[in-house]
Amino acid sequence: MAYEKWEVYSPSTKELLGAMEETKPEEIANMFAEAKQAFEMWRQFTVRERLSYFEKLRDVLLSELEEATSVISKSNGKVKLDALVADIMPVLDFLSFLKKDAAAILQRQKAKTPIVFIGKKSYVEYMPRGVVAVISPWNYPFQLTMIPVLSALISGNTIIAKPSEITPFVGRYMEEIFQKAGFPKGVIQFAHGGKEVGEAVIHYKPDYIFFTGSVATGKIIATEAAKHLIPVTLELGGKDPMIVCHDANIERAAKGAVWGAFTNSGQVCMSVERLFVDERIYEPFLAAVKKEVAQLKQGSAIQHDIGSMTFQKQVSIVKEQVADALTKGAILETGKSPSEWDEDSMFIEPMVLTSVTDDMKLIQEETFGPILPIIPFKDEKEVISRANSSEYGLNASVWSSDLNKAEQIASELVSGAVIINDVLISVANHHLPFGGAKKSGIGSYHAEQGLRMFCYEKAVMSDAGKKRSEVQWYPYEGKYDDFKRMIQSFYGGSKNYSVFVKSFLNLLKKSK
Ligand code: ADP
Repeated sequence: MAYEKWEVYSPSTKELLGAMEETKPEEIANMFAEAKQAFEMWRQFTVRERLSYFEKLRDVLLSELEEATSVISKSNGKVKLDALVADIMPVLDFLSFLKKDAAAILQRQKAKTPIVFIGKKSYVEYMPRGVVAVISPWNYPFQLTMIPVLSALISGNTIIAKPSEITPFVGRYMEEIFQKAGFPKGVIQFAHGGKEVGEAVIHYKPDYIFFTGSVATGKIIATEAAKHLIPVTLELGGKDPMIVCHDANIERAAKGAVWGAFTNSGQVCMSVERLFVDERIYEPFLAAVKKEVAQLKQGSAIQHDIGSMTFQKQVSIVKEQVADALTKGAILETGKSPSEWDEDSMFIEPMVLTSVTDDMKLIQEETFGPILPIIPFKDEKEVISRANSSEYGLNASVWSSDLNKAEQIASELVSGAVIINDVLISVANHHLPFGGAKKSGIGSYHAEQGLRMFCYEKAVMSDAGKKRSEVQWYPYEGKYDDFKRMIQSFYGGSKNYSVFVKSFLNLLKKSK
């Protein structure tokens, strides 16, 4: 589908949300010109001055919580509580994090100076890169745009954001709240539309690209970025394992699994996509999961737990994976077989599948839907190896009452994050990095590096400038043996300080 001008309907309520118009390529050229101009001003603001705009943004958002929740929920199909708690709250929490910690993270950092450079001082400065492109997806359309945008803004960059065409009114809404907060012209601009608009944004060579989305698009973006040596961060998919040990709190683990697999209809890069349970507790655990699923309410009203899928393409992927699994012998413990799905509805009932095997697509490929495959395991070694067998490594969880054992398993997992006796929450702790291992991505954001990644590091060494010369400068004559003695006495396992000092003083004398 082309996204030049298109009508947008809510996937859950089916209501017409309005018509959207694509940003034209020539407008993107102007946006870059404005962003470059604005950069010259914005980069000179102090963090505190930038934060004053962020505070206005926070106030706008807090005064419009209902509107914000509604536009996210209607655009994506997620229930309002998911929009409020998982899309909006993390952004507000991130704004608090920035208010408290950004100045310290971005200020000049003192560095040590080795003894051979005695008399000099060293520090690192974090310099904004310029115009940053943030290309974002539709599953958490608000937080996955806002957090990288705010991270790049606070460090002094100006932004071209390209939100997802699947949830365009969230993109429009974000644009509006920045306008209402009074951000200076050109500091943050939005390009609306699909893939072509994303391509056009990259075409104008931003100074950094922050991308969240699929592996396939991530590869295309990395390839384009490489042609111009544009640095990128890629936040891609996951096939996250959940490991339930025999000594886990079964009720808690079952509730956690059901939420971790079905929140946002499973359209979460960190959702539980492979659940491994110790065979000794398999039966009671499965019964507890089924009991939880039976209580879930699906719909688009305030009392509902699970909303709809966001768009047809994703429904088709889920359908294909479930059909493939059922043909290969999987058992559907809850939910409906794809042949019984209502073609006109974007709601998919939560599905728990057992008797799943490694040759099924739903074990190999990212699903992004409300499917929870449950797989029994015999021992820890086996489950660690199976959990690590995926080409992804975004998030994982380990459930056990023995925290030492859980931590040991956690450190064996090849994963950007591991959560013990809980699911998903590491992404909401802004003091922790967020990013993936293996095909789940390149780089991470949040926490200190989440701000510093949008800066280039400037290493500064400074000398008072009073000495005439330096030991390593010309002339070299007569210095070789002193340098050799200095190196031998200083860099070996046992240091000989008297030889070091003597040879160093000799060198100083020869350099006067
Ligand atoms: P999904 O298939 O799950 O929607 P994508 O990775 O295709 O995820 O999309 C994520 C974001 O990347 C969206 O904003 C989309 O418009 C954008 N996008 C898709 N293809 C390209 C591309 N070739 N260049 C730049 N941006 C793109």
